[in-house]
Amino acid sequence: MEGELFLLKDAKGRAFLIRLKEGGVFHHHRGTVPHEEIRKAGPGGKVWTHLGEELSVHHPTLEEYLLHMRRSATPTYPKDASAMVTLLDLAPGMRVLEAGTGSGGLTLFLARAVGPTGLVESYEKRPQHLAQAEANVKAFWQVENVRFHLGSLEEASLEPESVHGVALDLMEPWKVLAKATGALKPDRFLVAYLPNITQVLELVQRAEGLPLKLERVLEVAWREWEIRLPVAHPRFQQVGHTAFLVVFRKWKDC
Ligand code: SAM
Repeated sequence: MEGELFLLKDAKGRAFLIRLKEGGVFHHHRGTVPHEEIRKAGPGGKVWTHLGEELSVHHPTLEEYLLHMRRSATPTYPKDASAMVTLLDLAPGMRVLEAGTGSGGLTLFLARAVGPTGLVESYEKRPQHLAQAEANVKAFWQVENVRFHLGSLEEASLEPESVHGVALDLMEPWKVLAKATGALKPDRFLVAYLPNITQVLELVQRAEGLPLKLERVLEVAWREWEIRLPVAHPRFQQVGHTAFLVVFRKWKDC
């Protein structure tokens, strides 16, 4: 039981990520539930607080985990992280380079995509961020296919043409572009995640002279609907803009 992750949801759909502890108690504003009862109910079950609030019990999905885990830096939004996996064309056994690790959100998507026979080489320059990311990744994902590196990617020593993909979520990706491109295999993808269009334009300009072809710039829009029959309409509050995804493909050096 010790350390097992659970997600509880209340009647209003609010979610609470908890890690079970021997003798632990979950506190909701409508009462408390001992961790032992949550463990007995198990994923798919239900528990009630001592004030009668019903809570459903789940194993968190990766999306739920990313949205509720502790964060040191803002994680890549799940809709964007899953799109990055697709745009990078990742598959089991591949090796992928990531910077910065941040809170480890995107790292988890990459690690699941490349699977136990693959590898994620993740670089983060801030020690506190790296420590939080490592704790977040290890609490959710028991497979040892992530190497955490403390340091700036631009200072890393990387084997040429050794990775099947590069995922960048950092403020100034142009600073690491030459280094990351050198490590990328020909015909494979580098995807950068950038909140501002000015950053996108700067990156595209700085890519000139490198063996990179700009393939696509896109945004991922997920429009959620409210369905409580007979009510059925798009939600009034939506996640708005998160970031742009910039996709480059590497030319073969001739
Ligand atoms: N994708 C991450 C996630 O899902 O949790 C969030 C990344 S966060 C927005 C950006 C991170 O990049 C920060 O933690 C920052 O310290 C790190 N960073 C910035 N420049 C870097 C560099 N040149 N090399 C390595 N890490 C860098």
